Amino acid sequence: MTYWCEHAVLPGGVVAGVLVEVDGERFGSVTAAAPPPDATVLRGLTVPGLANAHSHAFHRALRGRTHEGGGDFWSWREAMYAVAEALDPDTYLALARATFAEMALAGITCVGEFHYLHHGRGGTPYADPNAMGHAVAQAAREAGIRITVLDTCYLAGGFGPSGGQCDLTQPQLRFSDGDVGGWLGRVSRFDPGAGAKLGAAVHSVRAVPARDIEMVAEWAARGAVLHAHVSEQAAENAACLAAHGRTPTALLYQSGALASNFTAVHGTHLTAADIDLYGLNRATVCFCPTTERDLADGIGPASALRAAGASLSLGSDSHAVIDLFEEARGVELDERLITGRRGGHSAADLLAAATEAGHACLGWRGVGRIEAGAYADLVTISLDTPRTAGCPPTAATAVFAATAADVRHVVASGRVVVADGVHQLVPDVPAALSAAIGAVIHQ
Ligand SMILES: [Zn+2]
Repeated sequence: MTYWCEHAVLPGGVVAGVLVEVDGERFGSVTAAAPPPDATVLRGLTVPGLANAHSHAFHRALRGRTHEGGGDFWSWREAMYAVAEALDPDTYLALARATFAEMALAGITCVGEFHYLHHGRGGTPYADPNAMGHAVAQAAREAGIRITVLDTCYLAGGFGPSGGQCDLTQPQLRFSDGDVGGWLGRVSRFDPGAGAKLGAAVHSVRAVPARDIEMVAEWAARGAVLHAHVSEQAAENAACLAAHGRTPTALLYQSGALASNFTAVHGTHLTAADIDLYGLNRATVCFCPTTERDLADGIGPASALRAAGASLSLGSDSHAVIDLFEEARGVELDERLITGRRGGHSAADLLAAATEAGHACLGWRGVGRIEAGAYADLVTISLDTPRTAGCPPTAATAVFAATAADVRHVVASGRVVVADGVHQLVPDVPAALSAAIGAVIHQ
């Protein structure tokens, strides 16, 4: 298959008139050239595939239902638990497929699914103990995007007295394998299949005792990525300090989790020493600005992390919004509001967070670049929509002007997934979302 991009963001910058030959799942060649007669012409600005590095697919059911009034992360969590209670492998497959199809329409070609809804009601395993994991991997395949299933260890309900952890309460029982040996046993038998990778996650320092974090980190060190929710809430820091005398980041470091395969999700409330630990260990921090805004979490130290040597990636987390361009500009624009300064992050850096760095933190190396040998992902942004008309073909237009609604054409792993704004595998994405959400939520 041959494409000719009117403008394309290549590793060295934007180039006009780029001929791209796709060989199977990968780019065969990428050259500046005039359009040959047999090429598919992509008008507008073509960027690499976007990676959504932090997703909980079923949270999409909460959109429009949890944003107004008071409350906080903890009250939102009660609403989320109600949806979790209603899901089984069939309804989860339908909901995740529709959610991932929405992602594909937004230019997302790879998702990191932070997956902790493992078991049936009350924590009873399904006949296939990985039935729910298989459902999310299958959902990504059917929606035409790659996935890293971040299989999550979730064992405890929070910090308890004298250094212990609290027991799980009813809805959380579905998340638990009983003990870390149960998690290791189940994960070692989980093959997510074609187009998918298996990674590990520690839900949080609240939910996994320190000695068990060591075991999960050891498993991940044998070639998988490791993610964890870290310091999204000031309350988590206070509880961790009270229980262990150290921050969540320091506890993860002490447990052997912090390495170049590690991604801290959120990292909103970090100390200077925490920031240094991420930089020194070449770890990634995944910012989710639209969720962090929605839950009044705060604004993380993105510039300081980058200056320390950490990588930044982006996620839509609770899916209040699925738009990686909005997440990318959110990192810079939120920081402007608290620092009174502009330009902490260049548009090229923000686009890299949404593409190459996002793929890398999900274990997909050498992806997220339009160059020979990389996975053939192309995301074309129209420059003739009401939002983008008259804008120059630059990374700044992609990051600061475009929205998910301006994505017109998406190729993922060499396959056309979105053509002229229409998903090629899930023909009516809104209908699929309505049906899947209607099956699990009734208000
Ligand atoms: Zn999350």
